[in-house]
Amino acid sequence: MILEMLTVGPFQENCYIVGDKNTGNGVLIDPGDEAARISLAVEQTQLEIEKIVITHAHIDHVGAVAALVDEYACPVLMHAEAEPMLKQLPTQAMMMGLRFGKVPTVDRYIEDEEIIEVGGLRLRALYTPGHAPGHLAFYEENAGIVLSGDALFAGSVGRVDLPGGNMEVLMKSIQERLLTLPDETLVYSGHGPRTTIGEERAHNPFLRGGLL
Ligand SMILES: [Zn+2]
Ligand SMILES: [Zn+2]
Repeated sequence: MILEMLTVGPFQENCYIVGDKNTGNGVLIDPGDEAARISLAVEQTQLEIEKIVITHAHIDHVGAVAALVDEYACPVLMHAEAEPMLKQLPTQAMMMGLRFGKVPTVDRYIEDEEIIEVGGLRLRALYTPGHAPGHLAFYEENAGIVLSGDALFAGSVGRVDLPGGNMEVLMKSIQERLLTLPDETLVYSGHGPRTTIGEERAHNPFLRGGLL
């Protein structure tokens, strides 16, 4: 498996290039900004990008999608419940004093538990709302990794003060869909460094102290 993390843009968002080294098939997850840098990194992996997958429609995760669709002519996949927020990207940008170019078009909706195949890789979609509507994480069981988007971070959890955020819903998502994964599962988040499920179960202050 190939897994490259690029931290992009003013929000220091983690974009992931994931692919099957043997078949050359690749996927981009959350290309949030700096399209040119992402495409240069893709070139170095020699992967053929066949789809772009979005964990949730916050501006820091989708800013480079439209530009990269132009480059790879590939479909964009996301959960249906994230669509209203995607449509509001220009408003999101304005609220943050940013400008937003083209709102990307989503070609297909991903459902909970759906398997996204990338060569021999099988990314299982885990419906994990609470930080944002229609938030998805992606679990590759054989590789022992989960791309957790903005649901779970090393030592923290996603913020819930943005539209559609809800702490109770987020805690339920994390407890039922992420902390149920094996302890040794590597967690690649939308922001910050890599961690493991076991580490977060034991030490994440947001997941202790009886919040549930
Ligand atoms: Zn977010
Ligand atoms: Zn984010």
